[in-house]
Amino acid sequence: MYIKTAGLVLREVEINEADKLIDILTRDRGLVTAKARGVRRSRSPIKSACQLLAYSEFNLFEYREKLTVQEAEPIEQFRELRDELELFALGSYLAQTVSVVAQEDAPNPELVSLILNALYALAKLRKPQLLVKAAYELRLARLAGFEPELEACPVCGAQTPDRFDLSLGAAVCADCHPEGNAGIRMPITPTVLDAMRYICWCDGKKLFSFRLDEEQLKMLSSVTEAYLMTQLEHSFSTLDFYKSLLQYGEIL
Ligand SMILES: [Zn+2]
Repeated sequence: MYIKTAGLVLREVEINEADKLIDILTRDRGLVTAKARGVRRSRSPIKSACQLLAYSEFNLFEYREKLTVQEAEPIEQFRELRDELELFALGSYLAQTVSVVAQEDAPNPELVSLILNALYALAKLRKPQLLVKAAYELRLARLAGFEPELEACPVCGAQTPDRFDLSLGAAVCADCHPEGNAGIRMPITPTVLDAMRYICWCDGKKLFSFRLDEEQLKMLSSVTEAYLMTQLEHSFSTLDFYKSLLQYGEIL
């Protein structure tokens, strides 16, 4: 059976002499794994379409529940990301996180749009990396079913709580302690709280259309990152690599 679908390559693993196994986040079938034969040879016609972070039109052949790439044509390769190691590392982290949330045989167009818009914001719109990272992380957590409670402190009802409780997934006041909860709490400023509300409640098309100064962005990004990891119960090697690049940059 042939399957035609558009999808983003989230992961690639080299196998045999010249082949790769690729994970593709497709619009129609959710996450799939397909074998790309001969793709590591320099003249392979499907090479650019099957590389990490390429968004391509795939023609897949299914036989005994295994998929093979028959044809593939790149729609958007995000070349700008490939030219800068830091951007590519961040893109790889986004790909790894979405692959944890995505499921086989469960199409989720919102997930596909979220990561494509994030890559577009990094590559084409040149939005600040931490802004894209933070907005993406929180929105992904929400899409994965972990919508945080940001309206008011669940204990006293205050409108501007100054902590975010990672395991509870709620903004709370420093002095308020919901029953039976002793999770990690991170400090948040009113500006960061407003940004979190914006990220969760805005139209997806406007997700990256806000501004924050660098200090606030750093706070936001560390909260959204910790929240995503806490809720997914997962750590990410690609994130460690991205952060190691940032640190190196700061030392220089
Ligand atoms: Zn309170």
